[in-house]
Amino acid sequence: MKKCIVCKKDVSPENEINVYRNGIETDDVMHSACVDSEKYRECEYCGFGIVHPVKDLNDQSECPEHKGESNMDDEEREGWEDIIENMTKDG
Ligand SMILES: [Zn+2]
Ligand SMILES: [Zn+2]
Repeated sequence: MKKCIVCKKDVSPENEINVYRNGIETDDVMHSACVDSEKYRECEYCGFGIVHPVKDLNDQSECPEHKGESNMDDEEREGWEDIIENMTKDG
């Protein structure tokens, strides 16, 4: 049985959450109860049972694999960031 990377205890398959890094599956698993949302989050598109380090997710909670699924490509996103930046400057 695999060990939880958080609490180091055995993880049964029903409680198993797979950890992906850079959008790639790793051997790391953790209990669903051990997922620290400050550090690991689900990707909207990978769905339940898979978490990614928060740093691998973009603003839309998309993993590198699914980045852009919610329709903005990088160029458009940069445009948006400029717009948002300008808006927040005024506020
Ligand atoms: Zn655990
Ligand atoms: Zn994903």
